[in-house]
Amino acid sequence: MTTLALLVALGILGYTAFYILNCAYNPWGVCKRPRCRSGRIYSRIFTKTFRECPRCNGTGRRVRVGRRIYEYLRSEHKAGTK
Ligand SMILES: [Zn+2]
Repeated sequence: MTTLALLVALGILGYTAFYILNCAYNPWGVCKRPRCRSGRIYSRIFTKTFRECPRCNGTGRRVRVGRRIYEYLRSEHKAGTK
């Protein structure tokens, strides 16, 4: 029983480490808003008019949650080594 629990804990830890590393390497995610096309939301009637997507501020990208965790961990590390 304890071996299985240890394996599960290690698996979760490994997955989290992998996720944080992945976010550090590739911090940007694609904006998930349905009608957002590279930060622009086009009008249904006038196809040439568009407005900036409020969720990604017209960039079409968003910062992943993991990136914030990574930056937090890095700042903690910096504070510790001073
Ligand atoms: Zn967007």
